[in-house]
Amino acid sequence: MPVLEKELGVQQVEQYIDGVFDKVKKRNPEETEFHQAVKEVLESLKPVLNKKPVYMEKGIVESIVEPERLITFRVPWIDENGNLQVNRGFRVQFNSAIGPYKGGLRFHPSVNASIIKFLGFEQIFKNSLTGQPIGAGKGGSDFDPKGKTDLEIMRFCQSFMTELSKHIGPDTDVPAGDIGVGAREIGYMFGQYKKMRSAYEAGVLTGKGIHYGGSLGRKEATGYGTVYFVNEMLKDNGASFNNSAVVVSGSGNVSIYAMEKAQELGAKIVACSDSSGYIYDPNGINLDTVKRLKELENQRISEYVKAHPLATFHDKFSEIWSIPCDIALPCATQNELDKEAADILVQNGVKAIGEGANMPCTQDAIEVLIDHRILFAPAKAANAGGVAVSALEMAQNSARLSWPLTEVDLKLQAIMKEIYRESKKASHEYDAAGNLVIGANIAGFVKVADAMISQGVI
Ligand code: NDP
Repeated sequence: MPVLEKELGVQQVEQYIDGVFDKVKKRNPEETEFHQAVKEVLESLKPVLNKKPVYMEKGIVESIVEPERLITFRVPWIDENGNLQVNRGFRVQFNSAIGPYKGGLRFHPSVNASIIKFLGFEQIFKNSLTGQPIGAGKGGSDFDPKGKTDLEIMRFCQSFMTELSKHIGPDTDVPAGDIGVGAREIGYMFGQYKKMRSAYEAGVLTGKGIHYGGSLGRKEATGYGTVYFVNEMLKDNGASFNNSAVVVSGSGNVSIYAMEKAQELGAKIVACSDSSGYIYDPNGINLDTVKRLKELENQRISEYVKAHPLATFHDKFSEIWSIPCDIALPCATQNELDKEAADILVQNGVKAIGEGANMPCTQDAIEVLIDHRILFAPAKAANAGGVAVSALEMAQNSARLSWPLTEVDLKLQAIMKEIYRESKKASHEYDAAGNLVIGANIAGFVKVADAMISQGVI
């Protein structure tokens, strides 16, 4: 392409992207997390829009930032004192171009439309990257499960599902867990869905218990998948987990299984956290203790030091990134690793970062890491293992059979390898050599965009 024509093309793309982003901000005022997620994707799509203006001409970018449907609803429930409590429920059905809406449910007091939309939007690209036939959705409630009795959790889940059941189904929308939603909550919601429908539709939810349609390996999938992805990235750059010091934030589903797989690959986990603070254990975190405290006893992470006197507890969650490490895996929540933390990690000689949580690094943190050539595995690619195995759970439910753990794990490993390969390939194809943020976003986008064009204006 002649230089002038190319320049014009670049300007046009810039203007187009600015226009789409302005509209998103106007239409969704104050929704800062959603703006952040959209901005990151739009910026990284510039090279593909330059090469393939058809995505602008067909209005694909304007369409992809607008959810197909956003449902909000009242969730009334009665607490242990007989008082009425009212929460708000959400489900965003963001994009169904390549399959039924698919994405987790989050129960956390911070949940609002912005959080749900940012998560649902990211899910489009992540789900596409898995190579599985799944569209994108996300949901949840501002309900706080902390301190609630088991009966309160059950009543809340039932009330939530009474409304949600009108909008989901194995071929329309398939929710799963996320922060605050684990096997117990999925079980209560599945029971209520079954009652509402008078039918056993196993594929309506994923993350189910193994004894009623769940997949072996789903519980471990996001954490293991993150480590498989980071391992590919390390290997490709002549490094490995073996003998490395690793810091993992959080001590929930993703964190625990990321720690487990990293340890299996020879890493020493020196710190992990929960929302009350972090623990540092110079001997390496004892995962049996963390599992006991978090999976069985519902305790705070500070209890860990009682069993391991050499370990220390620090009550500032965000200061975990000041612990020197070779590899950092933020696996707790969005925007937990900011520029200041990234600067400290770089000063301390970090070599790689893998995002196990969704959008855990702020945009300026990512810029610092990329500027310093730190290997960076973005969430949409690195944590796609959870939803990938959810899709495998759906496949098993449709076929009415159950695969052995080794089969699921081998499939997960193959999927994570392929996501790494595709993201890297796209980064080279679109002149962003090695930048996996750009590569993953483009690779995820192209498949969905092409499907949207094929299906016409709907
Ligand atoms: P869990 O609820 O199992 O664990 C979350 C962990 O992060 C807990 O240790 C929690 O501490 C901590 N945490 C949560 N919110 C905050 C906060 N605002 N500040 C500090 N710490 C916090 O959730 P998951 O492990 O399932 O999810 C973690 C992340 O991974 C989320 O970003 C989620 O969207 C993402 N993810 C999860 C997938 C899955 O399959 N579960 C799939 C893909 C992404 P505390 O217990 O004190 O609240």
